[in-house]
Amino acid sequence: MNEQNGSILMRVSNLSKEYVQRHPLTRSKVTVHALRRVNLAIRQGATLAVVGESGSGKSTLVRCLALIERTTSGEIWWGDVNLTALAKQGLFNMRRRVQMVFQDPTSALNPGMRADEIIEEPLAIQGIGTNRERRRRALELMEEVRLPAKWAGKLPMELSGGQRQRLAIARALALGPELLIFDEALSNLDLANQETILRLLKELQSAHRLTYIHVAHDLRMVEDLADEVAVMDEGEIVEHKTAQEIFMHPEHSYTQELLAASLSLKAIVEERRVAEFA
Ligand code: ADP
Ligand code: MG
Repeated sequence: MNEQNGSILMRVSNLSKEYVQRHPLTRSKVTVHALRRVNLAIRQGATLAVVGESGSGKSTLVRCLALIERTTSGEIWWGDVNLTALAKQGLFNMRRRVQMVFQDPTSALNPGMRADEIIEEPLAIQGIGTNRERRRRALELMEEVRLPAKWAGKLPMELSGGQRQRLAIARALALGPELLIFDEALSNLDLANQETILRLLKELQSAHRLTYIHVAHDLRMVEDLADEVAVMDEGEIVEHKTAQEIFMHPEHSYTQELLAASLSLKAIVEERRVAEFA
């Protein structure tokens, strides 16, 4: 991938992650190579989509980048800081700069906490501001993600799926991160909700100069959103190009299959639309 445009926010070098699992029947140990020597540069202010089939290592990769998961080997560089070498305090400090939004906000958000408490919590953990300042910040963030302030007292289960995902985004923004990672964060939402949240994410990105990584299992989701696409297969990045190049000239056979599948889906949706008007 050409790295000439824009500065690099994060650089991943030879990153590997292995899990040791027990075979369900024989109980013998099996090593799963979830990531195999991944190299990747993440450009500041850009949106990178990571696509690939289920089990290809997408979530493992982004969990390593979000410092939620320890790597087996390799390095993750943030400027001249090697994140894989950080001790506890260093990791704690980095949490302000990298935040993640998950696919299922119901399990990611504490069901017993009110919306405003959910947004304030990362600030409290990091010891930022007084109670009053944190509360004011939470209300500002609710406004930013278009949740009415009068819902500050609601529990996650009292919100719709789309509203819960906005809440998760507000929480992720609380610490003023530079990099936001979405792991299939829109895939449980219906089309209308996906579109409104995508629009919101674009606004937030330009307002706060955010860098995004979006994990998606289907290429249609990223067509409208990504500057670059990295395609994963069996723990490796098999293709990494600008979005335009990937859609025009998919090189790897796996990318061609992904693209063909998403194009035929698109054709089906289009056919239905035409049929509705006929
Ligand atoms: P994706 O997000 O692309 O679906 P994952 O990163 O979740 O893929 O998984 C990649 C591989 O690593 C899969 O074979 C999966 O079974 C394995 N894996 C992921 N997480 C764990 C874990 N916590 N323990 C053991 N194996 C795991
Ligand atoms: Mg996943």
